[in-house]
Amino acid sequence: MSTHVTPPRKPLIMGNWKMKPALLADAKTIVTKIGKQAGSFRNVDIVLCPPAVFLSELKRATTSRKIMWGAQDCATRREASETGSLSPAQVKSVGAKYVIVGHSERRALGDTDEIVRTKMDVALAEGLTVVVCIGERVRDTRGDYLQLLNAQLISAFKGRPRTELDRIIIAYEPLWAIGKSAKEANVQPGDIHEMMIFVRKFFAERYGKAIADERVVLYGGSVEPVNTRMVLTQGHADGALIGHASIVPSDFLSILTIANERT
Ligand code: PEP
Repeated sequence: MSTHVTPPRKPLIMGNWKMKPALLADAKTIVTKIGKQAGSFRNVDIVLCPPAVFLSELKRATTSRKIMWGAQDCATRREASETGSLSPAQVKSVGAKYVIVGHSERRALGDTDEIVRTKMDVALAEGLTVVVCIGERVRDTRGDYLQLLNAQLISAFKGRPRTELDRIIIAYEPLWAIGKSAKEANVQPGDIHEMMIFVRKFFAERYGKAIADERVVLYGGSVEPVNTRMVLTQGHADGALIGHASIVPSDFLSILTIANERT
């Protein structure tokens, strides 16, 4: 019988602010409210991904060391004449340790699996931790969506050395759940648990069970206080990527409180 026991790990709660809020002053207000209480969430890791243009100011606006910072995207190249793009080095230099790549909203704007792979490579080379998003648009009864997810994973991980895995987090975000209220999306625990198993199986087949067990796999899509416990317990996610609820301080703090108490 295997004696391998997965070490308990703190849930990772990430906020993806997308293009909100419009004003730096409002962003500072949000971060100040979260920062005041962040230190009390000892059993949770917290990462905020505000608009990159606000990063420096927001880091200064809170003295909380508990909050870690991330960017929502990065360029495909380390250096280039590429108007409007942000290099991994630039986001790192203003305090980001994490970068999200392959978010479905970036994929909808043209990021192919190949582009996502390249962004992962340049971000990893810069020393950032990558949060790579995968997710299907719709589910079908034959399970074709699993093939799409498999293709996304293969593109992101084919040939990737084991040494890079500790700086890669996988976020399963089904498009059919993103941007909806928890009630409207009505994600079931089985929808999430199934995908946690699917992702771990992918890694087990390539790197072995012990390494698969150590992967951090998040769930994202309509996570609100009302379904956070379900996501983390029955869904067996290692944490959550939160969109709309992450810019409402009371909601985000409630999510952190629930995650902090996860048993
Ligand atoms: C997201 O877009 O990453 C996300 C999880 O959004 P929401 O929580 O709003 O569904």
